[in-house]
Amino acid sequence: MKPVIALVGRPNVGKSTIFNRLTRSRDALVADYAGLTRDRIYGKVKEPGFDFILIDTGGLTDQTDNMSDLMRKQAKLAIDEADLILFIVDGRAGLMPTDSDVAQQLRNDGKPVCLVINKTEGERREIISAEFYALGLGEPQVISATQGRGIDSLLAEIKQRI
Ligand code: GDP
Ligand code: MG
Repeated sequence: MKPVIALVGRPNVGKSTIFNRLTRSRDALVADYAGLTRDRIYGKVKEPGFDFILIDTGGLTDQTDNMSDLMRKQAKLAIDEADLILFIVDGRAGLMPTDSDVAQQLRNDGKPVCLVINKTEGERREIISAEFYALGLGEPQVISATQGRGIDSLLAEIKQRI
């Protein structure tokens, strides 16, 4: 069985962009507005010496409406299926209360989590990382899905952990 990795995080942090970059596809729709991905989308990632299944999810919010409930349900299913969670946060927006809630939920689930800070182009990694240590998830991966920053390092981390 191939390892399964799930992309989890608030809407609009760049999960689908990361999915497309890692799977080298355009299967996941990327949107400038939150909440386009509702279901789980599966892709294959093939790298030299390892491969895995990647799941994109709609994202987790603190809102309570039908759409958020649906996305939450899909994210939960993805988390249950996954061997490793890539928890994506937005380096430009900074640490948001929902990020802390999701981090708490992931710690409760007890699954291995890799914290990934996206949208970090043009900023120093120490400065971006600082506030996210408060999530208690250890050393973050600092990436830009659109520019490709940190993707090799992220893949190396994934390889070590699956
Ligand atoms: P999702 O809701 O988490 O799946 O987020 P999307 O992948 O749909 O991306 C939301 C928006 O963020 C889109 O406008 C993307 O182009 C943009 N985005 C994604 N990754 C990056 C990044 O690394 N840097 C910047 N500046 N924007 C990004
Ligand atoms: Mg999406």
